[in-house]
Parts: sequence; structure tokens; C-alpha cells
Amino acid sequence: MVTVSVHPSVPFPSATILGFPRIGPDRELKKAVEAFWGGTLTESELESRSRELRAQTRARLVELGLGRDDASIPESFSFYDQVLDAAATFGAVPSRFADVDAATLGGYFTLARGRAADAPLEMTKWFNTNYHNLVPELGPETSFTLASRRIVEQFAEAVRDGYLTRPVIVGPVTFLLLSKAAADAPDGFAPLDLLDILLPAYVELLAELKAAGASWVQLDEPGLVSENLGVEEQTVLDATRRAYAVLGGADERPSILVTSPYGSLGEALPVLLDAPVEAVHVDLLSEAPDSIPATEKTLVAGVVGGRNIWRTDLAAALDTLQALTAVAARVSVATSTSLQHLPYSLAREEKLDPQLRSWLAFADEKVGEVGVLADGLANGRAAVQDELDAASAARRDRATAPGVADGEVRARAAALVAADAARTPYATRLAAQQEALDLPALPTTTIGSFPQTGGIRSARAGFARGRITEAEYVRAMQDEIRDVIALQEEIGLDVLVHGEPERNDMVQYFAENLDGFAVTEHGWVQSYGSRCTRPSILWGDVARPAAITVPWSQFAQSLTDKPVKGMLTGPVTILAWSFVRDDQPLGDTAVQVALAIRDEIADLEAAGIGIVQVDEPALRELLPLKRTEHDAYLEWSVGSFRLATAGAADATQVHTHLCYSEFGEVIGAIDALDADVTSIEAARSAMDVVTDIRSVRFGRGIGPGVYDIHSPRVPSTDEVVGLIESALDGIPARQLWINPDCGLKTRGVTEVTESLTAMLAATRQAREAL
Ligand code: GLN
Ligand code: ZN
Repeated sequence: MVTVSVHPSVPFPSATILGFPRIGPDRELKKAVEAFWGGTLTESELESRSRELRAQTRARLVELGLGRDDASIPESFSFYDQVLDAAATFGAVPSRFADVDAATLGGYFTLARGRAADAPLEMTKWFNTNYHNLVPELGPETSFTLASRRIVEQFAEAVRDGYLTRPVIVGPVTFLLLSKAAADAPDGFAPLDLLDILLPAYVELLAELKAAGASWVQLDEPGLVSENLGVEEQTVLDATRRAYAVLGGADERPSILVTSPYGSLGEALPVLLDAPVEAVHVDLLSEAPDSIPATEKTLVAGVVGGRNIWRTDLAAALDTLQALTAVAARVSVATSTSLQHLPYSLAREEKLDPQLRSWLAFADEKVGEVGVLADGLANGRAAVQDELDAASAARRDRATAPGVADGEVRARAAALVAADAARTPYATRLAAQQEALDLPALPTTTIGSFPQTGGIRSARAGFARGRITEAEYVRAMQDEIRDVIALQEEIGLDVLVHGEPERNDMVQYFAENLDGFAVTEHGWVQSYGSRCTRPSILWGDVARPAAITVPWSQFAQSLTDKPVKGMLTGPVTILAWSFVRDDQPLGDTAVQVALAIRDEIADLEAAGIGIVQVDEPALRELLPLKRTEHDAYLEWSVGSFRLATAGAADATQVHTHLCYSEFGEVIGAIDALDADVTSIEAARSAMDVVTDIRSVRFGRGIGPGVYDIHSPRVPSTDEVVGLIESALDGIPARQLWINPDCGLKTRGVTEVTESLTAMLAATRQAREAL
């Protein structure tokens, strides 16, 4: 066993990462956690599996070049979520869970998943990533204690195994900024009001970590880079100053690293550099190096991108690092963010085109890059010249490789004019659509997907693995579509869907069918809790070699006289849920995807489809963290949706679907999408959204969801009638559509049948009352 000696002023390691994936290379954590939930794995078995995963990660990171005993390995494991971890650590449990001990795994997961009568903590997007964190609920009554010592125990576990690692926890300012006021908190209460009573709990944690032998601790403060958290900048800066004066002033503590992933610190940078902490991390993919003032502290320079899958331009990164040595007393090399947003390793992607593969770096490879840069910084460029040259060669190869720039795609994009993104005025379209569709008042529809049964999944997987023929696969999907159409006719819906059985995922399906994308075999990343996704890689110019959805929609339409709605994913969502290219503005890529969707719509129309839905659930997700960037973002994102849909004939009804209802400042942008019908989530918030809709005098069709599809509960007819009545309070009947909150693919056939039946019964009542 290696013995670790700790010195109070032990220097920060020369190379580090902010965090590493934790789900396991084969999603071992997901499987273990779900087995625990299902009752087939005991708590102690889950503890021991997670211990194995942590041990594997530490060993792997040492193999990849991080130090075993210099605090360069972050302890970034989490059973579910890092914000939940902080809440559990400090005992910040909402009153409805007062009896729950979040220090036990059972209690911890109860907060995340809820229980019979108690809703779980809400979930929200973690900054501008596709990871979702839980939202702690705090009130004036909340108190903080060191309720769970998992962080200390995991550090001690590493020590026992012969590692001196670096504990990681969400910092106090970010923890409070990400929390919301509990439902019973008085008006005017803000979680940040609790800073002074939270800090002693952090101080206690620091002391315990110190006593356990920690030389460094990492406090993550991405909250400092976002302007979207609803708190005035000055208030945040004051809180930061106060928080770090207290933590830095603690008698017994490890040295402190404060990190700032996902954006630039702006005014918070000088505040951190003035604070009594030993090291400050900056995200140099966002922060301009020349905005960093001279400092006596260690600057932990995030030059290796933690969220993109591209190899780093090592020569340029080394230039940046060398320039920073003139500014900071000491410079360490790091990633811009945790690597939790990346797949584990490229090594297993044997089916990926070798040329594409040579341009990429996943988590393992990024750790390697950090090591090379640290070597170059310490020993001079010449020491790593071969690696720098190889990285530069890969970039050059990428710049000129076939498919990266497609002349035809570019010429088409360059020739676009404003009129290409504008449809005729709504009144004209409405008249044409009424004539073509002849729908009743309060038309009913669904959001697209129907339950994805085991049969559908196994047919899809069987076809992908070559176990069934294409003809057998098509037949299986057509049987499914036939059932779904028959079910909808029986229930009495007005606008039908084909049910999306052929789609594993609403983005990957299109990625698999468009040029310019590649898909991985093992590239899982955590989305939230035990949920993982396998984002596609958008590496080249996007083109559509052939129609994608047309045969399925056309088949569905052939089975019924009711209109069948074609179902597409919008450009912004396709980008938001993929790994995107970094060699051109996102807006340019969006135009290319939009043109592919536009062509698909034209083909659907030609095949006799009169209604097309283009889903954009991610529109709000990509909103930049800085307010000054909002307008430019909304311009290209809304523009790409309009470009995708504006080729549709007047009589073609364009729908869109958004998975949320708290629009806030983006309500104007949603109006600007100019969709004929917009369906949104509303049942969970009891139609609160109606106020927003009224505020912009939203003039076209709107379908605020009338039942919550996120739970298996079947709503009663009366309940749905109540929601329809609330909706009619703010929305004129001629504009109102009746639909569920979202797609039905995660639900069971019986609940869906019963719920939609109740929805239709409620609609009939509401129609009579009109
Ligand atoms: N059409 C998709 C579905 O029904 C929409 C899902 C979504 O917006 N997330 O599944
Ligand atoms: Zn949705």
C-alpha cells in the first residue's frame, strides 16, 4: 500500500480533469441502480458494485497519466446526480420527505424518484448541457447539517486503496442558485438568503476532509457563469465574495480549487482571484485568455474541451498555456468541464470510419491530451512535438476530407433569401387548411409516439443485428402501425399519427438517415439519473440522400380517411441532442439540417400527407447562458425552424411540439416559429401557461396538454374537462386543440387507451358546452 503524506501547502497537480464519466463503460451503474430499484440487488450489493466502479476509474486515470497521490484524480462519482449529492450531504430535504434519511441509498433515491403520495424533486437542465440535475427545494425553515458523509467516505476509500484523490462537491453559491423556493415558502424568499447558514455546514465538511487527509478539494461553481438563474449579477458576486471569505478563512481545510465550467466568469473572475482560495479554474473554451488578470494563485486552465468529441488543437492550447504563465504564478492543465458529458473511450468504436475516428477524442483520450499539454508546459514544446504535429495533422485532414464540406449543400445554403423562411399570412393558410381538413371544434390529436412495446423493440433490434430480414421488419412495423391507427379510430381522435414504432430515438433516427452524421456503438452518456443516451456525431455537411419517413406515413394514411400527421424532428433539437461540429457556427449547421427537413416535408406533401409536425422540444435548452447572446441565438434557431417549414403549401398544416410550458422570455420566439398549431406541456402546471399565451396574443392553434403522460395515472374525464375549461379561460375555442402533454412511447397500451378515451369523452362534453 502506498502511504500518502499531506502537507498544508502541497501544490496543485500540473494536470487534472474536472470529472469523469461515472455510469460505467457498459452502463454498469445504470444496471445496478435499476436492479436495486427493482428489488433484485441489495443495498450492500449496490454499494460494493459502485465501489468497484470507483476503483476502476481511479486505476484507469492513473493508467492514462494522472498522478496517483497528487490530488489530480477528482472523486466525481455519483449514484444519481451531483446536485442531489450536495442536498443529501447537507440534509436539505423538503418537508414532504422529512422522514427520509437521504444518507441511505433508499432515502437518496426516494428524493430523486418520489414515492406514492410525494412528487420527486424537479429536474432541470444542467447549464447548457444535455445533463439534467435535480432541483433542491429550500425554505426559511431549512437547516443544514453534515447529514451524509459519503464524500468523506469515498475519499477515505481511495486512501485505503493507495490514492490521494480530490473530493468534489457543488459549491455553495451554485447549490443555492440551482435550488428553488419550496412551495410553502413565503413570497420574496430566495434560496440564496440561506447562504450564511449553509456555509458552516461546508466548513464542517472541509474540516472532515482535511482530517481524512485531503490536500485539495474541488468546489464546482458553474452557477457563476450563467445569467439565466434569475438572480441579479451583483447579488451573485456579493454571495461569492462572502462564501469564499468564510470557506477560505476556515482553520482546518484542504486547499481549495473553485471551478467555473460551461462559460466565462466575467465579473466573477476578479472576485474569485481575490478570494482566499488557492486555485481557480477557468473554462478557456469560453473565457478569452487575455481577460485573465495577473494572479498569485494557481490558474487551472481548462484548455481541453470537456463536452465536445473533437481532438484538441494541442499546438494552439500549448500557446495559450505558455502565455498564461506570464500572468499566473502557476498554471495547471485541465479540461474545460467535467468529462461526464463524453463517452468513455474511442478504443471500442471499431465500426466507426477510421478517418473520422482519427479526428475524435472521448473521455479517455481527453485525459491523454491533458497529460501531453502538461508535459509540454513543463518540459518545452520539443518534448511533445510529435503529439502536437499529430493533432495538427488530424485537424488538417478533417478540414479537407470528403463530406466535411459538400459544394452542393453550401451553394444551396448560400442562395437562400429571406422569403425562403416565410409562409403566406396565417389567415390565408387557415382558410386553405379549414377547407382541406374540415376538422371539428376542439380538434383532438396526440404528440406522435405510441407505446413502444417489447415486440417493437425486439423487431428493431433484430433487424439491426441481421436476425430478421428487411421485409420481416417492415411487416412488423406495418402491423404495429395498423394497430395504432385502428386504436385511434376506435377512440375517435381527429388527427391521427403512425405512432413512431420505427424510431429508437427522435434524433438518432434522423441522424442515421442523413449524410454528415455518424453513430457510435458504445458512446453512452448520462442524461439524468440512470437514463443514458447515445448522441450521434455530426461531423460533415448535412444532406438527405433519400426520403426518410415518407413510406411509414404514407402507409398509415392509406389505412384511414382521417388525416395522418407526418412526424419530424426539428433542426435545433437534432443539433442539441447530438455532438456537433466545432468548425463552423451552429447556425450554419442548423440551416443545413433545416433544408433536409424542408425536403422531407415536400416529399410528405407529395405523398398525400396534409399535416406535418416538426418537434422542437430542445429550443429553450440551447438558450445561451449570457443574456447578450440570447437574441442572436433565437434568431438562428427560430430561423432554422421557419426555413424547415416555410416550403409547405398553404393548405398543409404545420404543427410543432415543445416539451415544456414555462416559456418566460422565449414565448415571443415560440410565436415567431409561425407554426399553425403548437402543442405544449401544461397538465402538470395546471394550465399556468395560459397566462403566457394570452400575454403575446398568440393567434394560431395551440394545444396545451390536458393530461400528464409522465406518470402511469389515468385521468378522470372530469379532471380533463376541468383542464379544458381552464384553457378556454384564456384561449379562444377556435384556437384550442386537445392533446396529451407529450409522446406516449414510455407508457403502457392499457393506460394510454384509457387516458385517451377519457380525453375524448371530456372533449365531447366541452364541445357541447361551447
Ligand atoms: N413526437 C415525439 C413523441 O411523441 C415528441 C417527443 C418529444 O418532444 N420529446 O415521442
Ligand atoms: Zn414533449
